[in-house]
Amino acid sequence: MDFTPTEEQLLVQRTARDAAERLLLPKAAARDVSGEFPVAELKELAALGLLGVAVPEELGGSGMGTIAYSLAMMELGRGDASVSVAVSVTNMVAELIAANATPELAKQWVPRIVSGELIAGAFGLSEPETGSDAAAMRTTAVKSGSTWRISGSKQWITSGDHAGAIIVWAVTEPGAGHKGITAFVVPGNAKGLTVARLEEKMGLHGSSTAQLVLEEVEVGEDQILAQPGGGFALAMMALDGGRIGIASQAIGIARGALEAAVRYAGERQTFGQAIIKHQAIGNMLADAATWLDAATLMTLRAAATKDAKQPFSQHAAMAKLFATERAWQICDIALQVHGGYGYVRDFPVERMLRDVRAARIYEGTSEIQRLVIARNLLRAQ
Ligand SMILES: Cc1cc2nc3c(=O)[nH]c(=O)nc-3n(C[C@H](O)[C@H](O)[C@H](O)COP(=O)(O)OP(=O)(O)OC[C@H]3O[C@@H](n4cnc5c(N)ncnc54)[C@H](O)[C@@H]3O)c2cc1C
Repeated sequence: MDFTPTEEQLLVQRTARDAAERLLLPKAAARDVSGEFPVAELKELAALGLLGVAVPEELGGSGMGTIAYSLAMMELGRGDASVSVAVSVTNMVAELIAANATPELAKQWVPRIVSGELIAGAFGLSEPETGSDAAAMRTTAVKSGSTWRISGSKQWITSGDHAGAIIVWAVTEPGAGHKGITAFVVPGNAKGLTVARLEEKMGLHGSSTAQLVLEEVEVGEDQILAQPGGGFALAMMALDGGRIGIASQAIGIARGALEAAVRYAGERQTFGQAIIKHQAIGNMLADAATWLDAATLMTLRAAATKDAKQPFSQHAAMAKLFATERAWQICDIALQVHGGYGYVRDFPVERMLRDVRAARIYEGTSEIQRLVIARNLLRAQ
């Protein structure tokens, strides 16, 4: 399979790189301390077409597909992981609505999400009691005339306190398991929707992570994204695509860490020579560069498979598993190469290590990726 980027895809990559260098990198360390949500940055990235990279142009997106999206996410992850989380969820939400909503619903939401008018999109699947086992969710939606009333709580919702549009999954047929779940588009300012708590995280401080409570939130029948019973399948499909974004984000963070480590190892002298010339340090950096290359190729392969409209679940799960696990190791190596300076805030690698850790958890933990991969192996026999 050829997934060499085209000129147009490389242009998206360059746009994202310039934006990361100009808007994100200079403020990443300060944002880590302040925890400021990047409203202005998201609006600028929207103006550059980076909130709807794979969304069709007729809905206001860039129509550039998944390879371009992946390349852009690598650049933004390298710039500031915190900002790239909001970007990845917003792209995922816009793409999901564009591909699955009625034309009216898509027109109502997608152009406003990708233009930055709504600041961000949010993905409301996880709950306090159910993350990996999302089908066991407890949030319910009950029909009353032509409206649905949604009640329950959603946990870990990225940008949940800022998003203008939230996809909320709820049980519409209790007892039907994963076949009794429906997805709705809920406005961020809906009556009955409140932010119960904002998490204090180990990293990704510029990304907000909210617990949302829904008390009889009313939405019209026209806000159904997946027909009753089809919601869970839609969530799994969205996560398959989302995993390409998270693999790309992790690669970007790890690339930033490796660049910092190589720079430092070329400058720092011990025992009369640059530390990169000590074989133990050189070997670690060589391994890190090799893993990064492999992760990039695997992720671009998953993106190309999705763009070719072929089944891509296996490629996406493998890319996410490999890229996020190795990215964590690469950031740890980068910290080690910095010695004591790696452990303090004067250098960026401790932040990168804290930020990249979440990538092994969200959009399906590494254990869940292995589960998906093993199931697909059995099916392929
Ligand atoms: C920073 C951050 C942002 C997030 N953003 C969002 C968001 O925007 N929207 C959203 O819906 N969710 C979001 N999440 C939630 C995330 O997807 C879940 O945390 C994740 O799916 C794991 O669920 P859990 O935390 O309930 O852990 P659990 O499911 O309780 O898992 C606990 C442990 O058990 C393991 N485990 C569970 N089941 C199995 C199994 N069958 N086999 C082997 N091991 C298993 C897991 O891998 C994990 O190690 C976010 C999480 C974080 C940390």
